[in-house]
Amino acid sequence: MSDAPKFRFGCLKDCSRAEQCCRREIVITLQDLERWGRDNTLMLIFPHLQYELVGGTMPRITIKRGEDGVCPLLHREGNACTVAHARPLNCEAFPLGWSGTAYYIMDRECPGLGAEEMTAAQLDEMRGRAQAEHEARTFSGSVLPVIQAVLMGFFEEQSRIAMDAMTSDEKEKMRTMFTEVAERGATVAKEKAEEAKEAADEAKKAAEQAVEEADKALDESGTSDES
Ligand code: SF4
Ligand code: SF4
Repeated sequence: MSDAPKFRFGCLKDCSRAEQCCRREIVITLQDLERWGRDNTLMLIFPHLQYELVGGTMPRITIKRGEDGVCPLLHREGNACTVAHARPLNCEAFPLGWSGTAYYIMDRECPGLGAEEMTAAQLDEMRGRAQAEHEARTFSGSVLPVIQAVLMGFFEEQSRIAMDAMTSDEKEKMRTMFTEVAERGATVAKEKAEEAKEAADEAKKAAEQAVEEADKALDESGTSDES
């Protein structure tokens, strides 16, 4: 009997619905921006990004879709992603999402679902990508409100000046800014992780102390029973 996971998926080369999976709302994370800043794809992707306030208060960065709703980074004739080597985490994880407590399918109409058997290792990788996307999105959601004034300024600037009209100094300034934003975010995340570790250490110490005290109390009660 095969021990292959029940979940089956394989992206179809000649998928007729490729435009469908590239019609979704793609949320961009700070980790995406930082990665693009490092591998020089930022200049290619940045003109297609938009900064918006959901409900008038929650900042979010997404890919600005064309009038027909399709991601502008899709090569229509070739039916392929033009930034496949640097796809956003959201596209990397597709079609599997992670809500923080459970996995879910981003698009049940994807014809790749059920198309190919997967190994347990492949499924684990897929789950890892879904979790990484969720973590990056959650992290960005908590950091963006803090840095929104800086980011908004840059996005406004971007709509005023066409990217190709920017000087190399301006482009470098923008690249540096995103790197700094990501580094600042990483520092906040590190601090939070250290705080959580300290709290966990203290809780562990308190639990050990409680066990010691309970043992001592038992010993003492045993001693007094014997006497
Ligand atoms: S992910 Fe699904 S919808 Fe997108 S191209 Fe592959 S098979 Fe088609
Ligand atoms: S970035 Fe690439 S994979 Fe993601 S929606 Fe756009 S074209 Fe599709």
